[in-house]
Amino acid sequence: VLGVGVLIEDITERRRAEEERAHLYREAQEAVRVRDDFLSIASHELKTPLTPLSLRLATLERRLERGENLDPGVLRHARHQLTRLTGLINDLLDASRIEAGRLALHPEATRFDLLVEHTLAGMEGQKGNHTFDFEPPQEPISVHGDTFRLEQVISNLLENALKYSPDGGTIRVRLSLTDDVAVLSVADPGIGIPEDQQQQLFDRYFRARNASTRSYGGLGLGLYISRDIVERHGGRIWVESVPGRGSTFYVALPTLASVRPALPQVWPDR
Ligand code: ADP
Repeated sequence: VLGVGVLIEDITERRRAEEERAHLYREAQEAVRVRDDFLSIASHELKTPLTPLSLRLATLERRLERGENLDPGVLRHARHQLTRLTGLINDLLDASRIEAGRLALHPEATRFDLLVEHTLAGMEGQKGNHTFDFEPPQEPISVHGDTFRLEQVISNLLENALKYSPDGGTIRVRLSLTDDVAVLSVADPGIGIPEDQQQQLFDRYFRARNASTRSYGGLGLGLYISRDIVERHGGRIWVESVPGRGSTFYVALPTLASVRPALPQVWPDR
């Protein structure tokens, strides 16, 4: 009886080990699949601007050869493709810096309200027929933050709001102050996000069904990078969305007054 007992225990133990191995194997396979999908999406995204870019360069070359004037419109389009390409490459670099714990922050006292205004002004050229509806807050709002990186977060939210909402839509941008916390919200009347996928939006490479199945380009890195930046400022980023109706993204940051005493002079890299 004792012998049988030991045997059964042994079998149970062996089965548990096998299940564990199978589980690890499935997880590894899933990681490889995610990476392979990402590589094919990334190569496609990186290639897309190249064709129009080389067409435009060829046009300019021809005009030069014929001694004609250069067309500023063609130059502008070529620059636009280059900007797009640079943005994609920067996102790839930032994501790998985050993975390696090497995305450096250089915080200083910053007027967050002016930063939002400045970022909005910088996007005038990109907004097409969309309208930005921004009401500056009643009082100045200062945070202790990395201006360059915070601007990256704000423009990522604005670019997404433009990208995922119909042409001509109004994007509502609000900034408020509650109990030493600055809250920025960006609301769009766009495609929204399926309920069961709202939690995963900030994961690396993640793209929601309704974005990836339609032809919206993207790498699924912007929100991942934004979350890292916001959380390392002691803040929080989240979304509320109704599929088919629109989305509101929120960024909450501690104000300068609330964080100053606790902060070291220079934030170490993570
Ligand atoms: P990308 O836009 O390049 O795919 P992001 O990390 O910026 O990457 O966003 C991740 C995903 O979140 C998007 O693919 C899309 O599914 C969803 N998303 C982000 N912003 C919006 C928005 N304003 N409206 C609807 N879906 C959005």
